Amino acid sequence: MSNIEQTLSIIKPDAVERNLQDKIKSEFINNDFEIVEEKKIHISKDEAEIFYKVHESKPFYKDLCEYLSSGPIVVMRLQKDNAVLENRKLMGATNPKDADDGTLRKKYGISIDKNSVHGSDSVENAKIELDFFFKD
Ligand code: UDP
Ligand code: MG
Repeated sequence: MSNIEQTLSIIKPDAVERNLQDKIKSEFINNDFEIVEEKKIHISKDEAEIFYKVHESKPFYKDLCEYLSSGPIVVMRLQKDNAVLENRKLMGATNPKDADDGTLRKKYGISIDKNSVHGSDSVENAKIELDFFFKD
């Protein structure tokens, strides 16, 4: 039985800065994701703070929000069977050092903070995150 889902992917500033967005987009296409919507934007620190509110209590929160708002990002609405989990698998572990071979973070990530991509971690959060960037 099919279980089509949508999830949010972000190509983070470190990857956009290195001009990796086309390479990363082809990885999604080659793995049967449909890019339903996408846009390149540069968010403010205030917006990053709202987006990452779930991490408010973490020691890395401030740096994380500064980082996500430090340069342009590409946000995408991805669609596939089991898209949330499939995207997490394709991304790999949060720390590129721990990520499996072939994953996006292994291939492109620089460090635990500059790890090139974001992906929603549940169907519920995917809805919230997609609304944050794509609700008009
Ligand atoms: N992060 C960080 N330091 C840490 C843990 C996380 O800078 O010790 C950053 C990293 O960019 C990560 C983001 O915070 O992608 C969100 O953390 P989360 O644990 O949700 O990891 P993810 O879901 O992105 O794998
Ligand atoms: Mg997360």
